[in-house]
Order: sequence, then structure tokens, then C-alpha cells
Amino acid sequence: MGIRKIVEYPNEVLSRAGKPVEKFDEELRKLCEDMFETMYEAEGVGLAAPQIGVSLRLFVMDCEGIKLIAANPQIVEAKGEQTGAEGCLSVGKIPAILVRPSEVTLRAQDLEGNWFEKTATGLAARCFLHETDHCDGKLFIDHLPKLRREMVIKKFRKEKKGR
Ligand SMILES: [Zn+2]
Repeated sequence: MGIRKIVEYPNEVLSRAGKPVEKFDEELRKLCEDMFETMYEAEGVGLAAPQIGVSLRLFVMDCEGIKLIAANPQIVEAKGEQTGAEGCLSVGKIPAILVRPSEVTLRAQDLEGNWFEKTATGLAARCFLHETDHCDGKLFIDHLPKLRREMVIKKFRKEKKGR
């Protein structure tokens, strides 16, 4: 299928928790290929299945040398703190400052269904959190204080109109 259309806020699929990935088959492999293609085309560093309208707990990422596929992701450890800008392909990449843990350990399954753990810092850690949130039906703007969230939504609506 190739490049898919990215679903944008406030589509309800983005606020729904994805279903667990149960079949580690050819179809899943193809879906992940499409997700990578779609992510690179959009110049993103991570993309979760709900962002292309597929309600599954699955994401792909390629960020600061960490390229992986994560099915059924969980954050098993998070420590420290980092303050930095975050954006989302489903919210027009409008950036907002968000405090996140600075060192994060992800546990997930690969394409064969094997569990693995990976620890990351900095932007890659932020990516683990952001994409796992997507799988749980949460957007980064849900973490923002009300005023800042409204500002991002307002900017996004304006940007969308201007396309
Ligand atoms: Zn996102």
C-alpha cells in the first residue's frame, strides 16, 4: 500500500486505546513497512498505528540512531527530567514545551513476537513515551496545561486552514 494518510486531531481513533498485536505475520510486516514509509515522507521520527487509522498497540521509530518496531509497548522505567519541545504529526507538528523523564526503558515485542527491552535518553526517550502514549489513546497535548494546549490546537487549526 505504501504511504498512508496521517490521521489528525481530533479524529476519535487517536483518543482510543489500540488493540494488542496478536498476530506476528506477513500482514504486520507490511503494515510496519508502510508506517516507516509514511513516517519518513512526513519527516517524523516516530509513528504509531492509530495515526494511520489502525487501532493497534504498535509503533515504529527512527530517532537518534534507534530504529525499531515496537508491538505492545510498555514503559517499564522512567527517571530524571528533561524540558524540551515536542510535536506530533497528527497535530501539524506544532511544537510545545513539555517536561518528560530523561531516561526511559521500553519493553515491547519485535516483528517475530520476541520481547525486548531498550533504554534511551534525550529525544529518543521522549519518542518512546510519545509513541507509547499514542498506543494508549493519548496525545502529547493531553499532558499540557490547559492554556498551552488550547494554544497548540488554535495554531494547528490555523495551519490546517492555510494548507
Ligand atoms: Zn504523535
